[in-house]
Amino acid sequence: MSQLPERTDALVIGGGVIGNSIACQLAEAGVGTVLLERGALGSGSSGTTAGVVRTYFPGNALISSLAVRSLSAYHAFAERTGTDLGLKRIGLLVLFTDEHQVQDFRHTQAAQQAAGVDVELVTAAEAARLNPLVDERTVLAAAWSPEAYACDPAAIVRGYATAAQQAGAILRTETPVTGIGPDGRVHTPAGSIRADTIVCAAGPWAGTVAAMADVHIPVTTYPVEMLLTDSPGSAPRNALPMTMHPSSLRIRSWGDRILIGMGRPAPDESRQAWLQRVSHRLGTTFPTLAGNGLEHGWSGDLDVSPDGMAFIGRDDSRPFLYAAGFSGQGLCQAPAAGEIIRNLVLGKESWIDTAGLSTARCLSGSAETG
Ligand SMILES: Cc1cc2nc3c(=O)[nH]c(=O)nc-3n(C[C@H](O)[C@H](O)[C@H](O)COP(=O)(O)OP(=O)(O)OC[C@H]3O[C@@H](n4cnc5c(N)ncnc54)[C@H](O)[C@@H]3O)c2cc1C
Repeated sequence: MSQLPERTDALVIGGGVIGNSIACQLAEAGVGTVLLERGALGSGSSGTTAGVVRTYFPGNALISSLAVRSLSAYHAFAERTGTDLGLKRIGLLVLFTDEHQVQDFRHTQAAQQAAGVDVELVTAAEAARLNPLVDERTVLAAAWSPEAYACDPAAIVRGYATAAQQAGAILRTETPVTGIGPDGRVHTPAGSIRADTIVCAAGPWAGTVAAMADVHIPVTTYPVEMLLTDSPGSAPRNALPMTMHPSSLRIRSWGDRILIGMGRPAPDESRQAWLQRVSHRLGTTFPTLAGNGLEHGWSGDLDVSPDGMAFIGRDDSRPFLYAAGFSGQGLCQAPAAGEIIRNLVLGKESWIDTAGLSTARCLSGSAETG
């Protein structure tokens, strides 16, 4: 293992979509940047996603605003980094099954549109036209947002990493951070490095990394399992919109199968019982999928904050910045998160007031994901 440089302007911990976006944007702004990743780039949460970027986040116009900003960066990504993200428009359908959900949508639609989100209320019949698997008798209405895309998450990591290196950043893999001293010295098995500014982008492990610097980031790890229908040909030939049900069931096409997310077994529930619950919910919401077997797709760790919104900000006591807790939405926000961190390092204003993103909002309550 070669030695680390003696010092750097900024040291980014974590080589997922967030850390690489930050490293790229810092390096391109002329900030001397080193990124340390304990495994391979993209080997954390970023390597386990459903591969969807969208702009509509029901109930949270601030997240939507970060996602709108990020999507426009993704549209310019190939030109900027030379890497094609394989963006393919699929759209997002959020099903409503009771009147309260429809009312909530109406109350928040103006804020969403002000954030730049293209979203409208559609009838149950229209929802069934947009996604032919939907049984219009089981839904009241739906929100339809055309701006949702399937993409290649590994290409996001690769594109930012390549651009960061071209701009002079040093990216070190297989280099875990094992300690952070009060003097800004960061320790690894390959030696230590002094950083003027430390940026924690360690995803689900951000709380553990921040604790090394005596900083509290209330991010928890929430393991989830993705499932696939077991029969080839279960997905219609045209790609389905990503479709979310109030039960937390969400589906999208995955080749000729359907990719399904519905969290994980409840604490007192066996995996078998959970699979039966997913299968039942799938069959009631999308009757043509009733009777399909379910296969394990893959598992991953969600990076959950107490209120489902990321922490992006600076600790008051030391030059320690953080971007973590994206709660299942990190692909959708990586470009904007990198831009905000870069601006904080440079002492520049961002395009939105970022105060509400700081850990100082000190939330309590149960974890939610978008
Ligand atoms: C099953 C699943 C599906 C998802 N689908 C989507 C989706 O479709 N769209 C979307 O927007 N989001 C999705 N997400 C969420 C998304 O994956 C995350 O929000 C995003 O990847 C977070 O990126 P990150 O860079 O913060 O974290 P990570 O990708 O986890 O990167 C953090 C890195 O820090 C490294 N690290 C940890 N500790 C140390 C240390 N001590 N020293 C050095 N390095 C360290 C880790 O190895 C890791 O590589 C999904 C998540 C899961 C689990």
